[in-house]
Formats: sequence, structure tokens, C-alpha cells
Amino acid sequence: MNAHDELSPALSGTQGTTPITTLLVANRGEIACRVMRTAKALGLTTVAVHSAIDRNARHAREADVAVDLGGAKPADSYLLIDRIIAAAQASGAQAIHPGYGFLSENAGFARAVEAAGLVFLGPPASAIDAMGSKSAAKALMEAAGVPLVPGYHGEAQDAQTFRDAAARIGYPVLLKAAAGGGGKGMKVVEREADLAEALQSAQREAQSAFGDSRMLVEKYLLQPRHVEIQVFADAHGNCLYLNERDCSIQRRHQKVVEEAPAPGLSLELRRAMGEAAVKAAQAIGYVGAGTVEFLLDARGQFFFMEMNTRLQVEHPVTEAITGLDLVAWQIRVARGEPLPITQAQVPLRGHAIEVRLYAEDPQNEFLPASGALTLYHEPAAGPGRRVDSGVREGDEVSPFYDPMLGKLIAWGESREEARQRLLAMLDETAVAGVKTNLAFLRRILAHPSFAAAELDTGFIERHQADLLPAPGELSDAFWQAAADAFMESESPYLRSDDPHSPWSARTGWRSVLPAHTTVHLACGAERRRVRQASTNAHPRPHSFRRDDRLYVKWEGELHAIERVDPIAAVEREHAHHGGLSAPMNGSIVRVLVEPGQSVAAGTALVVLEAMKMEHSIRAPQAGTVKALYCGEGDMVGEGAVLVELS
Ligand code: ADP
Repeated sequence: MNAHDELSPALSGTQGTTPITTLLVANRGEIACRVMRTAKALGLTTVAVHSAIDRNARHAREADVAVDLGGAKPADSYLLIDRIIAAAQASGAQAIHPGYGFLSENAGFARAVEAAGLVFLGPPASAIDAMGSKSAAKALMEAAGVPLVPGYHGEAQDAQTFRDAAARIGYPVLLKAAAGGGGKGMKVVEREADLAEALQSAQREAQSAFGDSRMLVEKYLLQPRHVEIQVFADAHGNCLYLNERDCSIQRRHQKVVEEAPAPGLSLELRRAMGEAAVKAAQAIGYVGAGTVEFLLDARGQFFFMEMNTRLQVEHPVTEAITGLDLVAWQIRVARGEPLPITQAQVPLRGHAIEVRLYAEDPQNEFLPASGALTLYHEPAAGPGRRVDSGVREGDEVSPFYDPMLGKLIAWGESREEARQRLLAMLDETAVAGVKTNLAFLRRILAHPSFAAAELDTGFIERHQADLLPAPGELSDAFWQAAADAFMESESPYLRSDDPHSPWSARTGWRSVLPAHTTVHLACGAERRRVRQASTNAHPRPHSFRRDDRLYVKWEGELHAIERVDPIAAVEREHAHHGGLSAPMNGSIVRVLVEPGQSVAAGTALVVLEAMKMEHSIRAPQAGTVKALYCGEGDMVGEGAVLVELS
């Protein structure tokens, strides 16, 4: 069978395999949409489940059948095992795909699915269990002869044990939640004096995120690369590695940009890592898609970190360089079919890069953002371009779920071709209504060090000044381009799609009429009186009109422009004062100051837990605590004033 053949649905039920004609996807967002895309291509009927607030979400609309789980929070919706299984039975689904996150690495779920006579599109529950705890996984890998980062992953959890272990391996060390994922419950500790406090904080985060506070500690490697191997195993004892991905570009230990293959990896190293990954998978009787994550140091030594027993966010870059559809493979393997190719036949062509588009504020510690997508525009489809997203314009980005909006993936014959293609895609993308990391992604992709493939996990921190520049004043050139674009968007003639309108031809006509017009425009806090230029010699920026607003893409940033009445604008200006407020909905886990206490600039005042992460609210300047408006355990809403400083 050719690697590029899609599985024909007619194959189901043949070769004594398990029939799967209806598939339920127990997830939301882009991954639910992506899984359903392949399921539909294979002729399957798709069933979505959704929370009450996701009734109109894209995944629910794109499915053939959508089942309401009720609730909003994951615990009241996407994590309700019994309800999801009941939805599968009621809709006639024979199989459940868990996506990533939520129940994807929950062995109890995998068991419940099978106990209900359904097929779980993932590994056997025993394999999830084996890798479910990072500590247990490390013990297993050690026994299988897979190299590990030096550290401690034992049962004892007291501070003294960790102090002794850290002293033995040497600082800096990294505390990790044994049950961890998504960078939660992870803390770098530079010196012994900070260990006890960091351990407690990490344990709290781990308890709240995973219901399990157990920790392990590792040597914190300085600027390693994150290189991971995609593995695939069938139920007949075959296991392959489908090349590697480099996911070194991370913020807060979470991936932002991923690519395949890993630049500069030698054939020998690829084979050694691939074989170690296959060994890891075989040691736990793995079946299906999995990823073995390694850290790679500058000397080319690699260390096992963990195995993710599911399809990963970044699987599209592997699909792009191999031409395989990993979801189709998951379905084949679940039907009991053997893998269609051998290791020697695994393709590797060209290079692919993916970026994760998040609703978050890069200028404010990447805090997740929520709100309505008043503008959402994706790049056009085309060769070497792929967009996996889960939202549409007008959707609400909820604070209850992961804030990833989607992924942009570019493929090229060379890395540079893929990079240029992805830059063009980023330029065509526009999102308004919630803050996103779009401009930040663009700066990463455009950075000379990224272009030179100088990749390691310290990349973002090292280039912070370039990647997160303080917002500067808007230039004259911007205002000029904005005024031109604004006037053009105002004119009904110029907006006409009529090909016979003189305005649709880009000739001298364009510049004659609107020339010499003056407009007062506002962009954020800035206002300008701009005279429209009589020539349009400069390249026009991408712009998007929504109601009274024009969004203009300028140097990677999207700016919202409105026409202002200059007098009313002045009247509206009012002095804004107040205290330090909650950047998002959450609960107060620590209050570190008291009224009357004087604090230095940067002092942590209150610790807020939101989206299962702890965020410190710090004093912006030195002062005295005038009032406290919150206590430990309080639930606070976004914008609620927490502390007043004088
Ligand atoms: P999670 O499961 O929470 O995502 P991982 O164990 O996969 O956590 O680690 C996430 C990232 O943290 C890695 O990709 C790497 O950048 C960094 N990291 C993990 N362990 C180490 C270590 N021992 N030294 C340096 N960096 C590490």
C-alpha cells in the first residue's frame, strides 16, 4: 500500500478489522476540527460534543451530529467521562478520538471507553498509565537503557529529600510536576535558599492543575534544544519513527514555534534518537501515535524527558514533510490494520514550520486573553500553506479553555522557503477583539537568529528586547498609509466589486478624487490630523474594515483606526486612576503584604491563580500599601481592584 493512499472506508470490516463508521471527537477547538476533517475524508460520520457555551463553536457546527454536554468549565463538560460515552452510544459512534489535552492521557477514560465496547483512538490504557507519571516513566526508561537527565524521581516528597537531591545534581535545578503537562507546576530554582518556597508553589500549582502534587527534580540544562520523535505503532508489533520535530522556541516552557526536520541534525543522530524512541514505545507495549520528547545538548547528547501518549499539537509539521495523515493512521491502527510502510520507506521531504496563534498578551507575561473575535481573518489557502484553526469571526474566546486559536503551517523545499511562506501567511492574518501573539510570532520568524536556525530553549529570553519591544510612537508613514486606506475604505465606489467601475482599476483614477482630503484619525490613545496623499506610490498595508473601524496591519501589528470628532475626543479624555487590578478571572492564593507596608518597585503583592497558573501582581513602583481589597481564597473577576498603592 502506498504511503499517500487514503484509507478507503470500504476497507472497514475487511481483513477481520474493527468496523468504525462513526467517530466521536471528545474535544473542542482546532484539534476537534482537524480530526473531523480526516474522518470526513474517510467517509465517516462525525459526532462532536460541546459544553453549553460552545453550542455555536466551530467544532460543534462542523460535525454531522453535535451533543450538548452542558456546563462551561472542563470539569462540567469536556471531562465528563460518563456523559461522553453516553453521547457516543446514543449517536451510534463505534470509536472516540480524544484529541490532546482534556481526557487524552487519562487511562481511566481509555478503560471506560473500552469497557463500554467502544474503540479508544489512542494507546492501550496500560501505556498511558506507564507514561502518565513523569517519575514512573523515567524509572521505566532508565531500565530500558534510554538516557535520562540527571535528577531525582523517587517517592519521598519532603523538602529535605529535594534539597539533598538538588545539592547532589547541582544548581540550577528544575522542579516538575510528576503528573505535569503544559509547563504547569514547573519551576527553575537557582539556589538552595529558594528551593523550599519554589517547591511549595509548584506543589500548589500541580495540585490544582492535576489533582496530584508529586514532584520530581532534574538538572536544569542550559539552553538545550527540545527535539522530539514522532512514533507510530500498530497492534501487530510494528513500530516506526516518523522523523523528528524541533520545538525549542518556547515561552514559559511551552512551545510556540515547531519545525521538522530539526535543523542541522545528522542522519546518525536522527537514527539514534529515533531508535531510542522506538525502544521507549516498545518498552510499554505502545500502539498508535505517540511522541518521545528529548532534550539535546550542544555536544549532541540527548536525554529522555517524557512520552506524550497522544497526537500532539505540532503533528502537522510531521505530516507536511512525510505526506502522511496521522489521524488516518490512527483510524487504520484502531481498525486493526498493520502500518502501511516500513522504517526505510518513511518519507522526508522539504521543511515545515508551524506557529501557534494564541489569544494572549505577550507584553504582559503571556497572560491568556478572552473576549469576542471582532475581526478574524486567516491567510488564503495555497500550495505549502495549511491553517488548522477552531474559531471564526464573532466567536467568543472563553477563559475556561486553552487560549490557542489555531496554527499556521508552512511547507517549503528548504527551511528558508518555508520561513518566507509562513511570514507571508502571518502578514495576511488579522485578529482583533482579543490580544494575540501574532506580532510576536512574526518577530520570531523574521529574527536573523531564527533565520540562521540558532535554536535552543533560551531563544525567546535571549532575544526578548527584539521580540517584545516597548510599543513606540506610530510613524508618519503609518498615519499616511492609514489615512489612505481609511479614505479608500470609505468610498462606496472604491469598495465596489464591480470590475467595470473605473475605481476598481488601479490607475491614475484612484488618486484624483480623494486627494487633498483631511481626516482626523484615532489609533489607540494617539490622534492625528492627516492629509491624504496625492500619490499612492508606497506599498499598501493589509487592511480590514469592520463597521466604523479600519484595521491596518503595520510592521506585523494590527492597529484599529477610527475617525474622530476632535472636540468630543478631548471632552472624553478623563484622568484615570485606581489600584492594581486582576488581569483576568481567577482566585487569590497568596496575599503577601499588609496595609501600611511600604514596598519596593517589583515587589510581589498578591498571587493570583488563573488558568491553573500562578501570576504575581507586583508593585509598578515603590510606595505604600493603602488598601487591600482581597483575601486568600477570594474569587476575583477581571479588572477587580486588588490592591491600592499610594
Ligand atoms: P510539560 O509536560 O509541562 O510540557 P516537559 O517535561 O515536556 O513539561 O518540559 C517542557 C519544556 O521545559 C521542555 O521542552 C524544555 O524546554 C524545558 N525543560 C524540561 N526539562 C528541562 C531540563 N531538565 N533542563 C532544561 N529545560 C528543561
